[in-house]
Amino acid sequence: MPDFSIGVDLGGTNLRIAAVSTDGQLLEKITLGVKVALGRDHVIGEMCDAIHRLTEQYRGSGRFVGAGIGVPGIIDRETGMMCKSANLPGWSDYPVRDEIERRLGVRVFLDNDAKVAALGEKWLGAGRGVDNMAMLTLGTGIGGAIVLNDKIFYGMTGMAGEFGHVTVEPDGVPCGCGNHGCAERYASATAVVRMAHEAIATGNAPGLAKAAKSDPEFSARSIYNLAIQGDPDARRIFHRFGQVLGILLAGLINVLNLDMFVIGGGVASAWDAFAPQMFAELRDRSLVYAASAPEDAVGKKEGASALIGYTRKKTIITRALLGSDAGLYGAARIPAS
Ligand SMILES: [Zn+2]
Repeated sequence: MPDFSIGVDLGGTNLRIAAVSTDGQLLEKITLGVKVALGRDHVIGEMCDAIHRLTEQYRGSGRFVGAGIGVPGIIDRETGMMCKSANLPGWSDYPVRDEIERRLGVRVFLDNDAKVAALGEKWLGAGRGVDNMAMLTLGTGIGGAIVLNDKIFYGMTGMAGEFGHVTVEPDGVPCGCGNHGCAERYASATAVVRMAHEAIATGNAPGLAKAAKSDPEFSARSIYNLAIQGDPDARRIFHRFGQVLGILLAGLINVLNLDMFVIGGGVASAWDAFAPQMFAELRDRSLVYAASAPEDAVGKKEGASALIGYTRKKTIITRALLGSDAGLYGAARIPAS
């Protein structure tokens, strides 16, 4: 039987834990609703119980190589400390790794959730077999990770890949990071809902206004559904979304010239609504993309650059394949690699 590891995906609303064999087979997955309000110690306790149960259960089938944990926040990989997390109040400056190692007596690795999602897609998803790629996770904000020569590129302080806070609008919407006009203010689930409320406030978006009134959730998904049904104001929001994502990707492609860019996260499922504009921006704004665009992404656009198809190697922009399991697989991959 193959060896196995444990992957943990600690989110703001769910705690998910999986036993995964080192050859990538899912052995078992547990989903626990995280009662963040009950505090850090409660969450750590539930996590340790679940890890313990899974390791005991599968120990007979192979060697346990350790646990990887993806967390939503900025972490210090050397010390295994959570430095800052917007979604997990009360976890700042907490030694997550050491505490779990102490309780369970197993090897524990801690990493940022966007980085482990990229590792998951690289291992078993869209990026399988690709050495150089980046992943953008479109959710509440935009998470990001760069993979170079098969390894996450962390940068000096581990913060490389903060794509969401690249400026796309000089005097744009203020962002929690202190900047204005960050990409995630226009191309995330939060941004879609904000833009919808702004459109409703003008009094000229009847479809959105009606949906907001009748749908207590009124989420990015509701607005996507309207866009797909042809509502012009909802379509305009995803047009803006695609435009900003295209501007961001054009910059990344020009700078990094990677083989693949994987788009994941909850709002990636609105692909049909934003991707056409995203590709249009890429063709217009990135000479590197224009020189390496796949034929099927070129379309029939008038005046498409003469550079398109210039090289035999193609820049692939694609959707993630593993959905919310990417983080679980990626976290399990860290101790196994
Ligand atoms: Zn920002």
